[in-house]
Amino acid sequence: NKIIKEIKVNNVEIKLVSGDITIEETDAIVNAANSHLQHGGGVAGAIARKGGPDIQKESNEYIKKYGEVETGNVAVTTGGKLKCKYIIHAVGPIWNGGGQKEEKLLYDAVFNSLKKAEELKLNSLALPAISAGIYGYPIEKAVPVYKKAVYDFINTNPQFLKEIRFVIYGEDHLDYFLKEF
Ligand code: ADP
Repeated sequence: NKIIKEIKVNNVEIKLVSGDITIEETDAIVNAANSHLQHGGGVAGAIARKGGPDIQKESNEYIKKYGEVETGNVAVTTGGKLKCKYIIHAVGPIWNGGGQKEEKLLYDAVFNSLKKAEELKLNSLALPAISAGIYGYPIEKAVPVYKKAVYDFINTNPQFLKEIRFVIYGEDHLDYFLKEF
Protein backbone atom coordinates (compact mmCIF):
# COMPACT_ATOMS: atom_id res chain seq x y z
CA ASN A 1 0.00 0.00 0.00
CA LYS A 2 1.12 3.50 -0.75
CA ILE A 3 1.24 6.38 1.73
CA ILE A 4 -0.13 9.43 -0.04
CA LYS A 5 -0.15 11.98 2.76
CA GLU A 6 0.89 12.30 6.42
CA ILE A 7 -0.45 14.84 8.86
CA LYS A 8 0.64 15.19 12.46
CA VAL A 9 -2.00 16.34 14.93
CA ASN A 10 -0.79 16.69 18.53
CA ASN A 11 1.23 13.50 18.90
CA VAL A 12 -0.76 11.44 16.46
CA GLU A 13 0.16 10.66 12.88
CA ILE A 14 -2.75 10.56 10.42
CA LYS A 15 -1.84 8.78 7.19
CA LEU A 16 -3.83 8.62 3.98
CA VAL A 17 -2.98 5.32 2.32
CA SER A 18 -4.05 4.08 -1.07
CA GLY A 19 -4.73 0.36 -1.40
CA ASP A 20 -6.17 -2.69 0.32
CA ILE A 21 -6.82 -2.68 4.06
CA THR A 22 -6.46 -6.46 4.38
CA ILE A 23 -2.67 -6.21 3.96
CA GLU A 24 -2.17 -3.48 6.57
CA GLU A 25 0.14 -4.32 9.47
CA THR A 26 -1.37 -1.96 12.02
CA ASP A 27 -2.29 -3.41 15.44
CA ALA A 28 -5.92 -3.47 14.33
CA ILE A 29 -7.91 -2.84 11.21
CA VAL A 30 -11.50 -1.61 11.18
CA ASN A 31 -14.10 -3.52 9.21
CA ALA A 32 -17.16 -1.83 7.69
CA ALA A 33 -19.51 -4.43 9.15
CA ASN A 34 -23.26 -4.95 9.30
CA SER A 35 -25.06 -5.35 12.62
CA HIS A 36 -25.26 -9.13 12.25
CA LEU A 37 -21.52 -9.38 11.58
CA GLN A 38 -22.20 -11.39 8.43
CA HIS A 39 -19.15 -10.63 6.34
CA GLY A 40 -20.38 -11.17 2.80
CA GLY A 41 -19.40 -8.45 0.36
CA GLY A 42 -17.32 -5.29 0.12
CA VAL A 43 -14.44 -4.78 2.50
CA ALA A 44 -16.01 -7.21 5.03
CA GLY A 45 -16.01 -10.01 2.47
CA ALA A 46 -12.38 -9.32 1.58
CA ILE A 47 -11.37 -9.34 5.27
CA ALA A 48 -13.28 -12.55 6.01
CA ARG A 49 -11.85 -14.33 2.96
CA LYS A 50 -8.23 -13.37 3.59
CA GLY A 51 -8.45 -13.71 7.35
CA GLY A 52 -9.79 -17.25 7.20
CA PRO A 53 -12.82 -18.90 8.84
CA ASP A 54 -12.01 -17.84 12.41
CA ILE A 55 -13.21 -14.31 11.72
CA GLN A 56 -16.75 -15.32 10.80
CA LYS A 57 -16.72 -17.93 13.55
CA GLU A 58 -15.71 -15.45 16.25
CA SER A 59 -18.24 -12.98 14.87
CA ASN A 60 -21.02 -15.57 15.17
CA GLU A 61 -19.96 -16.31 18.74
CA TYR A 62 -20.09 -12.61 19.54
CA ILE A 63 -23.63 -12.29 18.16
CA LYS A 64 -24.77 -15.36 20.07
CA LYS A 65 -23.40 -13.95 23.31
CA TYR A 66 -24.26 -10.25 23.04
CA GLY A 67 -26.85 -9.96 20.27
CA GLU A 68 -26.51 -7.77 17.21
CA VAL A 69 -24.22 -4.74 17.14
CA GLU A 70 -26.14 -1.47 17.06
CA THR A 71 -25.40 1.01 14.30
CA GLY A 72 -22.58 3.30 15.46
CA ASN A 73 -21.12 0.62 17.74
CA VAL A 74 -18.25 -1.85 17.39
CA ALA A 75 -17.35 -5.48 18.15
CA VAL A 76 -13.87 -7.01 18.30
CA THR A 77 -12.45 -10.26 16.96
CA THR A 78 -8.91 -11.44 16.41
CA GLY A 79 -7.31 -10.81 13.04
CA GLY A 80 -7.29 -14.49 12.09
CA LYS A 81 -4.60 -15.01 9.44
CA LEU A 82 -4.20 -11.29 8.76
CA LYS A 83 -1.18 -9.31 9.98
CA CYS A 84 -3.21 -7.28 12.46
CA LYS A 85 -3.87 -8.53 16.02
CA TYR A 86 -7.50 -7.43 16.06
CA ILE A 87 -10.36 -6.52 13.81
CA ILE A 88 -12.68 -3.84 15.10
CA HIS A 89 -16.01 -4.40 13.37
CA ALA A 90 -17.72 -1.02 13.14
CA VAL A 91 -21.34 -0.74 12.01
CA GLY A 92 -21.92 2.39 9.98
CA PRO A 93 -25.35 3.65 8.91
CA ILE A 94 -27.12 2.89 5.66
CA TRP A 95 -27.56 6.20 3.78
CA ASN A 96 -31.22 7.07 3.62
CA GLY A 97 -31.22 10.65 2.38
CA GLY A 98 -29.57 12.20 5.43
CA GLY A 99 -32.59 12.66 7.70
CA GLN A 100 -32.14 9.42 9.65
CA LYS A 101 -29.27 10.52 11.94
CA GLU A 102 -26.79 9.09 9.45
CA GLU A 103 -24.16 11.74 10.22
CA LYS A 104 -24.23 11.14 13.97
CA LEU A 105 -24.18 7.36 13.46
CA LEU A 106 -21.22 7.52 11.07
CA TYR A 107 -19.38 9.77 13.50
CA ASP A 108 -20.07 7.29 16.30
CA ALA A 109 -18.85 4.34 14.22
CA VAL A 110 -15.49 6.05 13.66
CA PHE A 111 -15.17 7.56 17.14
CA ASN A 112 -16.07 4.26 18.84
CA SER A 113 -13.51 2.41 16.69
CA LEU A 114 -10.80 4.77 17.89
CA LYS A 115 -12.01 4.54 21.47
CA LYS A 116 -11.93 0.75 21.31
CA ALA A 117 -8.39 0.80 19.91
CA GLU A 118 -7.30 2.99 22.81
CA GLU A 119 -9.06 0.70 25.33
CA LEU A 120 -7.10 -2.19 23.84
CA LYS A 121 -3.92 -0.10 24.25
CA LEU A 122 -3.15 -0.26 20.54
CA ASN A 123 -0.61 2.03 18.90
CA SER A 124 -1.89 1.89 15.33
CA LEU A 125 -5.20 1.49 13.55
CA ALA A 126 -6.32 1.39 9.90
CA LEU A 127 -9.84 2.36 8.81
CA PRO A 128 -11.72 1.96 5.51
CA ALA A 129 -14.32 4.39 4.18
CA ILE A 130 -17.12 3.12 6.45
CA SER A 131 -20.62 3.28 4.87
CA ALA A 132 -19.29 4.72 1.60
CA GLY A 133 -19.70 1.47 -0.38
CA ILE A 134 -22.76 -0.79 -0.33
CA TYR A 135 -24.33 1.40 2.39
CA GLY A 136 -24.42 4.30 -0.07
CA TYR A 137 -23.19 7.18 2.11
CA PRO A 138 -21.99 9.86 -0.36
CA ILE A 139 -18.21 10.02 -0.09
CA GLU A 140 -18.11 13.84 -0.17
CA LYS A 141 -20.38 13.89 2.87
CA ALA A 142 -18.64 11.02 4.63
CA VAL A 143 -15.05 12.29 4.58
CA PRO A 144 -15.72 15.44 6.69
CA VAL A 145 -17.42 13.20 9.27
CA TYR A 146 -14.41 10.85 9.39
CA LYS A 147 -12.16 13.85 9.85
CA LYS A 148 -14.18 15.40 12.65
CA ALA A 149 -14.37 12.10 14.53
CA VAL A 150 -10.60 11.59 14.25
CA TYR A 151 -9.73 15.14 15.29
CA ASP A 152 -12.19 15.07 18.19
CA PHE A 153 -10.72 11.78 19.31
CA ILE A 154 -7.17 13.08 19.12
CA ASN A 155 -8.26 15.99 21.29
CA THR A 156 -9.18 13.53 24.04
CA ASN A 157 -5.38 12.99 24.30
CA PRO A 158 -5.09 9.27 23.68
CA GLN A 159 -2.18 7.65 25.51
CA PHE A 160 -1.58 4.70 23.23
CA LEU A 161 -2.82 5.45 19.76
CA LYS A 162 -0.06 7.10 17.71
CA GLU A 163 -0.98 6.25 14.13
CA ILE A 164 -4.35 6.37 12.40
CA ARG A 165 -4.49 5.27 8.77
CA PHE A 166 -7.29 5.73 6.30
CA VAL A 167 -6.94 3.04 3.67
CA ILE A 168 -8.61 4.30 0.54
CA TYR A 169 -9.70 1.90 -2.14
CA GLY A 170 -9.86 3.45 -5.60
CA GLU A 171 -8.73 6.74 -7.07
CA ASP A 172 -12.03 8.64 -6.97
CA HIS A 173 -12.35 8.38 -3.19
CA LEU A 174 -8.76 9.49 -2.73
CA ASP A 175 -9.47 12.94 -4.20
CA TYR A 176 -12.10 13.62 -1.52
CA PHE A 177 -9.71 12.65 1.25
CA LEU A 178 -6.95 14.81 -0.17
CA LYS A 179 -9.30 17.79 -0.42
CA GLU A 180 -10.50 17.40 3.17
CA PHE A 181 -7.22 16.58 4.93
P1 ADP B 1 -20.40 -0.32 3.67
O1 ADP B 1 -21.44 -1.41 3.63
O2 ADP B 1 -20.14 0.19 5.08
O3 ADP B 1 -20.67 0.76 2.69
P2 ADP B 1 -18.39 -1.51 1.90
O4 ADP B 1 -17.49 -2.64 2.21
O5 ADP B 1 -19.40 -1.70 0.86
O6 ADP B 1 -19.03 -1.06 3.31
O7 ADP B 1 -17.53 -0.25 1.49
C1 ADP B 1 -16.81 0.56 2.37
C2 ADP B 1 -15.61 1.11 1.66
O8 ADP B 1 -14.60 0.12 1.63
C3 ADP B 1 -15.86 1.50 0.20
O9 ADP B 1 -15.28 2.77 0.00
C4 ADP B 1 -15.10 0.44 -0.59
O10 ADP B 1 -14.58 0.99 -1.79
C5 ADP B 1 -13.99 0.12 0.36
N1 ADP B 1 -13.30 -1.16 0.18
C6 ADP B 1 -13.72 -2.29 -0.44
N2 ADP B 1 -12.76 -3.24 -0.39
C7 ADP B 1 -11.72 -2.70 0.30
C8 ADP B 1 -10.42 -3.15 0.68
N3 ADP B 1 -10.00 -4.39 0.40
N4 ADP B 1 -9.61 -2.30 1.38
C9 ADP B 1 -10.02 -1.06 1.69
N5 ADP B 1 -11.23 -0.57 1.36
C10 ADP B 1 -12.06 -1.38 0.67
